[in-house]
Amino acid sequence: MREIIDVERLLRNYDLDRISIATIASHSALQILRGAHEYGFRTIGIARPGHGWFYRQFRFIDEVWEADFANFESIVPKLLERNAILIPHGSYVEYVGWRRAIKMEIPTFGNRYLLEWEADQRLKMKLLEYAGIPTPKVFNDTNYAKYPVIVKLYGAKGGRGYFIAKDREELTRRLNDLKDDYIIQEYVIGVPAYYHYFNSYVYNRLEVFGMDIRYESNVDTRIPGLAEPTFTVVGNIPMVLRESLLPTVQKYGEQFVKAVSELVPPGIAGPFSLESIITDDMRIVVFEFSGRIVAGTNVYMGVGSQYSVLYFDRPMDMGERIAHEIREGIKSGKLTKLLT
Ligand code: AMP
Repeated sequence: MREIIDVERLLRNYDLDRISIATIASHSALQILRGAHEYGFRTIGIARPGHGWFYRQFRFIDEVWEADFANFESIVPKLLERNAILIPHGSYVEYVGWRRAIKMEIPTFGNRYLLEWEADQRLKMKLLEYAGIPTPKVFNDTNYAKYPVIVKLYGAKGGRGYFIAKDREELTRRLNDLKDDYIIQEYVIGVPAYYHYFNSYVYNRLEVFGMDIRYESNVDTRIPGLAEPTFTVVGNIPMVLRESLLPTVQKYGEQFVKAVSELVPPGIAGPFSLESIITDDMRIVVFEFSGRIVAGTNVYMGVGSQYSVLYFDRPMDMGERIAHEIREGIKSGKLTKLLT
């Protein structure tokens, strides 16, 4: 069992009337900081050296810092002075790494301990299976694999380093060249769909907040078949789902929340995502989750998602939704439940 950071201790010297929202200037920082500004929080963007200039042009960012992420710990005291809540996202995990992120002495929105589960292919699938969500089959023995399969390297990021094998001969040949650990998964034939959820402790409900699909080079190329399929995300495209599928999406989200509360205390607050393939017989097969905001939520930055209208009397984007939860959490005395 991991040591849990005592959030109440971190917040002890905080002035709750003067909270700042801080995040790494990358990934989904623009919508996070714009939303925070709209709700009256002071905003801080932390950029890699030489990358701050882009963020300085935006009036809703009060302070843009540049920092060496190899030594992120050194700016933590300055963040604490500003009463900062850190919003973690994919670039934070990439630059700082989950091992350091789970020990960082800074109040962090959501469940930071999920970052470890997210980083490990086997833990990730274990959590989804425990939740009772349909997942792709995993094959430990190439003799019994059902082809095609997708091979995922442990260290692979954003789909880079995955490959698809059509049959046993191709799989055996390509596995021979591999040095890293990997997982062999059924390659599910269908279309991708990524669901953005928000689990609210303020309203005690799970919101199906939005959706997207990824635009990936080069599986989404105009001339397919000329090159090895790769899955490097270059952007995201908005989507809505057949309404008849929404109850299943809601159900899987609720099962995930329950599984996290049982396996990864203290449970999940705020945004997370389930990433799926939908087959032609309408099965939703989930191959991945993210226990924090995903960049796919950028598709409705500033305009709000279609589904947010179902919960609020106006469209909201995920940056605003996070700020709304923190604002209401402070008012209702639930802030510590939203943080780890
Ligand atoms: P990931 O980096 O895990 O999000 O995966 C990159 C891409 O690989 C996804 O966007 C999917 O299109 C595809 N993918 C991953 N796992 C599977 C699977 N088991 N079956 C079909 N496609 C998959």
